[in-house]
Order: sequence, then structure tokens, then C-alpha cells
Amino acid sequence: MNDIEKIVFKNIEPGRPIIIAGPCSAESREQVLTTAAELYKYGIRIFRAGVWKPRTKPGGFEGVGIQALEWLAKVKEQYGMEIATEVANASHVEAAIKAGINLIWIGARTSANPFAMQEIANCLRNYKDISVLVKNPINPDLELWIGSIERLYNAGIRKLGAIHRGFSVYGQHMYRNMPQWHIPIELRRRLPQLQIFTDPSHIGGRRELIAPISQQSMDMGFDGLIIESHCNPEMALSDKAQQVTPEVLNSIINTLVIRDNVQTTENLNTLRQQIDQIDNDLLEILSKRMQISKEIGQYKKEHNLTVFQARRHDDVLRSRVQYGVNMGMDGDFVKAVYQAIHEESVRLQMNIINNNNSI
Ligand code: PEP
Ligand code: MN
Repeated sequence: MNDIEKIVFKNIEPGRPIIIAGPCSAESREQVLTTAAELYKYGIRIFRAGVWKPRTKPGGFEGVGIQALEWLAKVKEQYGMEIATEVANASHVEAAIKAGINLIWIGARTSANPFAMQEIANCLRNYKDISVLVKNPINPDLELWIGSIERLYNAGIRKLGAIHRGFSVYGQHMYRNMPQWHIPIELRRRLPQLQIFTDPSHIGGRRELIAPISQQSMDMGFDGLIIESHCNPEMALSDKAQQVTPEVLNSIINTLVIRDNVQTTENLNTLRQQIDQIDNDLLEILSKRMQISKEIGQYKKEHNLTVFQARRHDDVLRSRVQYGVNMGMDGDFVKAVYQAIHEESVRLQMNIINNNNSI
């Protein structure tokens, strides 16, 4: 997919993040036009609003549907803004394109569903010029995310991008959807030419988290942000806790620090060389540790001892965490590292015991 094209947005300053903003849902003509007018005043040029809302349970506000597309078209006509909405099936695609939508996005529940994705891709064969952003599937499955992008690519769409909106987990957490930044980073490595937007609103689920998540995104060099903004967030019919007024959005954007991620200074190169060397050393030492662990496995086998010895495991973990903390590291981090190392040791020793592997 190396001929994916960058989506070119009108009136966006080069070198600045691309900001897509607007309410979670288009609720009324007045709400759409008031929000758009304020966003326009603060320099936003790409307007988002959900017309069909995929809700977890029935009975909630499911969007006003096709009628809202006229309000978005009005935003385009009145302010010259580009307009974006979510589509989840072929009839949404047809209606959105007919209304002059510039940019469509595929929601997280839809990108998790290959049948829906294929239906949308088949429909888009007739509209190859449209720009499409694919949100990550709700579950942390990079292959499924790439697969959804690939279905659109195979249908001939080239102006493709991705939106990282975090991943569902069970239970209450600080984030509504876990960011798992390594997944969009790996997506960038796999498809370097694909623009990646961060959706801090759906990752955080709370308006206070929009600024820090946006800053993290910029620090990692992602291309832009899609942020929910409503003229009156407290009255929003969906996602009210995570929406901000256009004014607040403007101050969030203005405080973002955009660092240069292309130029690397000589100093940075020297530091990176040191990191490379340290990583080599770490891996050599780790492999020596695993070798000794296998010898222990052999001993346990010969003496009929169990592989997992809880007391030893607890002692190792406790003493290493303490040592790491004394050296200024985070205890949870050291614990996670040692749990991973221990798990691998157990796996190697089990291999020896079960498969008669020699060391
Ligand atoms: C949205 O952008 O309003 C939305 C429904 O997002 P997601 O698909 O990420 O849940
Ligand atoms: Mn939303």
C-alpha cells in the first residue's frame, strides 16, 4: 500500500497539526451552525459532526440522520469549511457523498467488522476520490485495523488516513479507551505514508484529558487531532463529559508545543548511539540469564523439582523491585520487566522438562 496519498486539507498552515473539530453529534441546525461559526472564528477549517450515532444500548440518542447532512452542507457553503462525518454502511456513504461531505470516517465499531467494511469499500468503488479516515477497531487488533484500511485501498481509495481513538477494556480506568500508543506507532512503522490523527476526546472520555493526550500525540509526531467541540457541552446529547466549547478548544490548541521531529541534532544522534549500544548490552546479558535459567531447568528435571517455585519468584521480584527503586526507577516498571523475564524463564524450563530439550 505504498502509494497511499496524503490527504491535502485546504487552508491548513504547513508544519501545524491538522485539527478536525466539531460536536460528537449534529443535534439541531442551530447547534451545528453556532458551533461551526465559533470554531471558524478560532481558525478551525475542518468540521466534524456525527449524523448516525452507533450507541452501545438501544434507547439513547442515535443521531438525527440524513436531515443533519443539510446542516453540514450549510457549514460548507457558509464558511468554506471542509465537512466530515461517520459512515457505517453503504446507504450512509451514498447519502454523505450526495450531500457534499469532503471527508468520511469509519467508526471503531465498524472498522472491527469486516462485513461492514467490505460493504463500504464496495460502495466507495464509485467514489474513489473521497478522503477516508479509518478509526482503530474497538479491540486492540492492529491487523484488523490494517485489514480495514486495505479493503478500502483494494477498492481504489488512495486518500486514506487513520484515527487512533483508543481501545476498549473492561472496568473503570483513567481513560475511557486505553491509548496503547505502541499500536499507532507500529501502524506508522508498517504504513509510513498514512496520516495518523489522534482522537483525545474518545481516548480520554473527559475534557480534562484532551490537552495532555493531544500533547502526547504531538510529541510522538502524529499528524493531527480530531477533537469534539460543542457550543454548549453541558447540553450535549452524546459524549457530554468529553466535549469542550470552541473557546476552550482554542486555548488547548494554542498551548500545544509542536516539536521538530524531522531535524535531529548532532547531540541527539550521539545519545541515540549510546542507547543502541546499551540495548545491545542489555540483550546480551538477558540472553546469558536465559542460558543459566535453562541450566537450572535441566537441574530441576534431573532432581524432579517443580519449575515454578513461588517463594523464589516472590523473593526475586521483591529484591529486584527494591534494587530498581533504589536506583531511581519506577517500582511498577521494574516489576513488569521482571514478570516478563520470569515468564520467559518458566517457558524455557517447561520446554526442557516436557520436550526433553537439551540446553
Ligand atoms: C465519534 O467519533 O463520535 C465516535 C462515535 O467515535 P468512535 O467510533 O471512536 O467511538
Ligand atoms: Mn463521540
